[in-house]
Amino acid sequence: MKNIQMVDLKGQYKKIEAVVNASILEVLDTTAFINGPKVNAFQKNLETYLGVKHVIPCANGTDALQIAMMGLGLKPGDEVITADFTFAATVEVIALLQLTPVLVDVEPDTFNIDVEAIKKAITPKTKAIVPVHLFGQCANMEAIMEIANAHNLYVIEDNAQAIGANFTYINGDKKKAGTIGHAGSTSFFPSKNLGCYGDGGAIFTNDDDLAHTIRGIVNHGMYERYHHDVVGVNSRLDSIQAAVLEAKLPHLDAYNAARIAAANKYDDAFKDEDKITVPFRNGSEDNHVFHQYTLKVTGVDRDALVKHLNENGIPCGVYYPIPLHKQKAYTDERYNEADFKVTNQLVKEVISLPMHTELDDEQIDFITTTIKTFINE
Ligand SMILES: *Cc1c(COP(=O)(O)O)cnc(C)c1O
Repeated sequence: MKNIQMVDLKGQYKKIEAVVNASILEVLDTTAFINGPKVNAFQKNLETYLGVKHVIPCANGTDALQIAMMGLGLKPGDEVITADFTFAATVEVIALLQLTPVLVDVEPDTFNIDVEAIKKAITPKTKAIVPVHLFGQCANMEAIMEIANAHNLYVIEDNAQAIGANFTYINGDKKKAGTIGHAGSTSFFPSKNLGCYGDGGAIFTNDDDLAHTIRGIVNHGMYERYHHDVVGVNSRLDSIQAAVLEAKLPHLDAYNAARIAAANKYDDAFKDEDKITVPFRNGSEDNHVFHQYTLKVTGVDRDALVKHLNENGIPCGVYYPIPLHKQKAYTDERYNEADFKVTNQLVKEVISLPMHTELDDEQIDFITTTIKTFINE
């Protein structure tokens, strides 16, 4: 059996090596390292793929969130509601811009932001909601957009984990994750579903004015060379990363399909295990692209299971072990533990299994058998 990895970047690279190498060599040959034609080409291709009017590439997914908030004109003191159960980047940029993060609980089945908790958290100072499409599946964007419209709030989708996923409306319409809110952000960190070979990110929007504002912000607030109209940042996707992404984008749907196929096999292996809850999927199969395959275990010592798997050569992860409202940097005396029942429970129960495009049946069988033997001992 091949060594089991949490993410197999090498196996994936080897299959597209010739195309990626040629694409990178083109950049070296033209020496258009910054804002070269590859960046523009990738941007256009991603706009077409997502069905969104504007993709603005930037340096990473954390910058993308920050720049989206800057572009929307959020000001110190504005309250921004986001999920308690996510990677710290989401709340970090809110705090960095001196906005006030308002963390709220998530749903126990999807792990995504709880719509009722959003409603409860809205105050006259609330200006935006940042749903995170955690582990590859959209938050309830239909309900979130309704709340946002009713209260005149912006919605910024943190789509770092769900690129290529669809969101299905009650009437059956579908849209790509990240293209529904006023802005969406994503990350091309190597292990994400569409990863480059370094850092990268992008902002999405259908709003022409916002896109224009953001294009200036990513470039030192310049709309005309050496005219700095607003305070900006320097955040660029470099041409070499764009070359990698241009080569990989045509494979994104196949990559996501491979993740879904692996998830289906995991689900099937665990179907008779009452101590294991497999990931909940909302709607049709293309709604969850499994950035992570995350189980909930009950009546099992989760940390002992992690240790046992690691001892058997099976890497796994606990995303996330501490709720954000308990992190030193983000505690706030206004928070009440009773409002975080779900996240406080999830941090004890979740375990994410190896998930990538190169998992084979033998590996999945070994992983699931090892888990089932341990929990039924
Ligand atoms: C990865 C990630 C980010 C940050 O992306 P970087 O490119 O690493 O800055 C933000 N939010 C979520 C939910 C993520 O998973």
